[in-house]
Amino acid sequence: MLQRPVPWPNGAKVACAITLDMDADSLVHIHHGAGAGDKLSATSMLRYGPEVAIPRILDTYRRFGLTQSFFMPAWCVENHPKAVEAIVKDGHEIGHHGYIHEAPNSLSAAQEHDWMCRSIEIIERHTGQRPRGNRSPLYHMSSKTPGFLAQEGFVYDSSLMGDEVPYVLETGKGRIMELPVSWATDDWPPYVHAPDLDYMFAVQAPERAMEVFMAEFEALRACPGGLWVGVWHPFVSGRLSRWQRVEKMIEYMLNTGDVWFATLEEIAAHVAMVEKSGEYAPRVDHLPYHAENQVPAELQGKV
Ligand SMILES: [Zn+2]
Repeated sequence: MLQRPVPWPNGAKVACAITLDMDADSLVHIHHGAGAGDKLSATSMLRYGPEVAIPRILDTYRRFGLTQSFFMPAWCVENHPKAVEAIVKDGHEIGHHGYIHEAPNSLSAAQEHDWMCRSIEIIERHTGQRPRGNRSPLYHMSSKTPGFLAQEGFVYDSSLMGDEVPYVLETGKGRIMELPVSWATDDWPPYVHAPDLDYMFAVQAPERAMEVFMAEFEALRACPGGLWVGVWHPFVSGRLSRWQRVEKMIEYMLNTGDVWFATLEEIAAHVAMVEKSGEYAPRVDHLPYHAENQVPAELQGKV
């Protein structure tokens, strides 16, 4: 069972969002800095995302009539304008994903806020809209991130893993709706083998990866009121064999008649609406969870 099942539109059992994080070649730059130019093979693997996968993905969405969410570093918005233009033209959402895939929890508070503001400005300039949602690169959210998001007018975040239903982060600077994710529906573990990025997972067949993703979906169908979020990457899941399997998945999900496919922005808006009408009371987490250091001095570092 789910403790707080959300009443989804039209009696849908599961709200579904395929989110695509278009990291592209920002990853090779953040990993290798000035040496990125000599990582041509990794660069080609990553640029496959905006160059080859995005047109394929958009074509699928047009055929199924889906509008979905994309997250991307602002650096990618500047460097891959053709892909961004095509995504925006089809009415999809573009969310914030750092400037060049830097980890927010490795920055000072001032640096994190400064780069967030610069990235918001770049996204707004290229897409005509401020981003409403955030996904922290590699889920590396800092203790300051939720407060900065609230301060900058974001509506939702989708980087945390604390539930199967949306919940609210009360940050002290305002509220943010959390639309939680899970490593079980992330395409990184089953597919990413990239020595230049220090990831060397054993590559799984699409059918095996989908088994894991769909186990999550079927569990939610059996306990209505939850949220299924695919956290995928164009250069990973947009490869031909994997994307063909995704198309079959979409067809299957739609044929169940049990799903509501939406952007994360639409899902956050729906939850806010049913909360306002009194139909639903989301869980509210007050941040921070603990004071800075909870470890007694003599237990420090005894792992
Ligand atoms: Zn990413």
